[in-house]
Order: sequence, then structure tokens, then C-alpha cells
Amino acid sequence: MEFNIALLKGDGIGPEIVDSAVAVLNKIGGKYSHKFNFSEYLMGGCAYDKTGNPLPQETVDGCLASDSVLLGAVGGPKWDTLPGHLRPEKALLGIRAALGLYTNLRPAKLYPALKEACPLREEVAAKGFDLLMIRELTGGIYFGERGRRDGKNGLEAYDTECYSEMEVERIARVAFNSARLRNKNVISIDKANVLESSRLWREVVHRVAAEYPDVACTDMLVDNAAMQLIKNPQQFDVVVTSNMFGDILSDESSQITGSIGMLASASLGDGKRGLYEPIHGSAPDIAGKGIANPIATVLSAAMMLRFSFGLEKEADDMENAVNRVLNDGFRTADIVGTSRVTPLSTAQMTEKILENL
Ligand code: NAD
Repeated sequence: MEFNIALLKGDGIGPEIVDSAVAVLNKIGGKYSHKFNFSEYLMGGCAYDKTGNPLPQETVDGCLASDSVLLGAVGGPKWDTLPGHLRPEKALLGIRAALGLYTNLRPAKLYPALKEACPLREEVAAKGFDLLMIRELTGGIYFGERGRRDGKNGLEAYDTECYSEMEVERIARVAFNSARLRNKNVISIDKANVLESSRLWREVVHRVAAEYPDVACTDMLVDNAAMQLIKNPQQFDVVVTSNMFGDILSDESSQITGSIGMLASASLGDGKRGLYEPIHGSAPDIAGKGIANPIATVLSAAMMLRFSFGLEKEADDMENAVNRVLNDGFRTADIVGTSRVTPLSTAQMTEKILENL
């Protein structure tokens, strides 16, 4: 099969880690007789420097014309003082909106080989965990009505949480369909004891759950969820939640794996096209040193094969190669932990993954 992939390498370590993922995709392509065609477009600070716009129209058009998009990361101190609408990070919201992406999938997995990096208690870490956080991406309080006004105590500001049945229903379906490919367990997180928007969220999730009798569905209040992630992360399989709760909890679930350089993500809409990117940023402190961990980007590319291209076996192959490299004891500097091994460079880690394919 043949696929067209738009590459948004971005800033900082972005180009280094995207190049690694491209090398791995090319090897997989050769092994399984697929052809991946890559087209590069500018986004973020590098786009601002060249065109005065962090998200040029050419980039949007190129992504819309592709089968899927692989992004490195954007941003850095050089652009931190620009006005909001010109900041590299603004391009992230712009590209998600342009591609109609309303679901964010973030797997958080504690690799047995990296247990020592996990900040949780030893007996909790020993059991490992493997969860998929699904966050609604284009609704809720980040997009609701907002403003400032004169209140009874003087100046006040407000933001509004608003969800339609349609928005909840479509994200709930993503959760239940994903759970069918995993351990058939969905935990829906809300604040239904206080918020009307959460009560509607819960009603709609239950309605959709009735169509998936083979998948268990439980509600959990967000404050409890924040505690349970620390206390007993093994209980989670698929988690579905709103934009703001997902923003916070997905960072928490990433942190408890202890290794930000390992975590992939996918943003999806109605069609097959998605935006795949590591969860970490552009790491300006290590950019250009050749020591960035490429694994999060390689695993993001594996998610692309699975979710956008339906290449399940090939995605498994990439993930298994990463597992073997870690089990063999190879580490980049960010995941050396207490293991005392000599860290590999980005290029050396990429080579190890390629050798295992
Ligand atoms: P960051 O994720 O870039 O870095 C946090 C720490 O983790 C740093 O010490 C960094 O060296 C390390 N790190 C991150 N990825 C790594 C990797 N692959 N290998 C080894 N170490 C890695 O977060 P930050 O420092 O808060 O942000 C830096 C810039 O990135 C900012 O401009 C921010 O706005 C931007 N950012 C972009 C995205 C994105 O493009 N999606 C996401 C988050 C932050």
C-alpha cells in the first residue's frame, strides 16, 4: 500500500526525532512492501521566522492533502515574547481545528524495563499499568463563552463549560470502540455531583454504553480519578473525559510513567487522517545535542499505522522493537535513571530500533 505523510518537524528537537521516526517507517515500509511518501511543511517558530506566520496556509493545505500528519514539537524561548496569535503554540490549536480533530488519544504505559523511573510507590510500580486516556479536544471550557464584567465585588472574569450531546456522544463512541480493541473497560470521568454539563456528559455516556454491552462502563468523579491514578493506576484501561479534565489528567498519567520522552499521542477526527506527535515539547535545553529520546515519536508513528492506515501488524512490530531495545538495557539519557548504563545518542537509539525490526 502507499501512503502520503505530511511531516511537521517544528522546532528544537523536533527535526531530530522526526528524522528517527522516518527512518523507522522506511524500514517498516521495506519489510512489509508499503511505500510512505513524505512531504515537509513549516510549522511553529521556524515557520514564523521564514514566513511571519506560525501556521502558513501552505502547511494547512499540505496536511489536508495528506493521508496523515507526523509532528515533532514547536516552540522555544526565541519566540516566547511574540504576541499570542504569532506564538508557535498557537499553530497547534490552528492545525487541530483545520483538520477537524476532536479526540486526543494518549496511551500511558509503564514499561517493566523502566520501573525504576516511575515515581509511584515500589509495590504500585511493580504491577505496571497500561492505560489509554481519551480527551475531548475541541469543546468545553477552553472554547466556551468568556469575558470580564462588573460583578458584585467589582471586576470579575468568567469562562463557560458547555457540551452538546453530539460532542459527548462522538467521543464516547471513540472510547467504547477503543476499549473493544483493549481490555473492554471504560471509565468516564466527570464532576456530575456539581456541574450540569457533567450530568449531561454522564447521561450521554450511559446511553452510548448501552450499545456496547460487552464493554464495562464506570463513572468516576475527577477529584477521585486524580487520586486513583496515583494509588491504583492498574484499574484503568480506557479513560474518557472532557477537554479540561483530560488536559490535567493526561499530564498526570504521563508523569507517573516517569519518562516523558517515551509517550506518544494521536489526535483524530471523523475520517482516517490524524495528527500524531510525542507528548513532550521541543526541549530547547537539549536541542541540537543529538541526545533526544526518539521513542515517543517512533511510537507516535506506530499509532499512525494502527489508527490511520489500519496496519496493525506493522504497528505491533514497531512497538515490539522498542520493547526489545528497552529490555536489552539500552537507554537514552532521559531514561537512564539509576541503571548506570552509558546513554545512547538519538542516532544510536534509532539504530537499535532499526536492528530489532
Ligand atoms: P519539554 O517537554 O520540551 O521539556 C521538558 C523536559 O523534558 C526538558 O528537560 C527536556 O529536555 C525533556 N525532554 C522532553 N522531551 C525529551 C526527549 N524526547 N528526550 C529527552 N528529554 C526530553 O517542555 P518545556 O520545556 O516545558 O517546553 C519547551 C517548549 O516546547 C516550549 O516552548 C513549549 O511551549 C513547547 N511545547 C510544545 C509542545 C508541542 O509542540 N506539542 C508541547 C509542550 C510544550
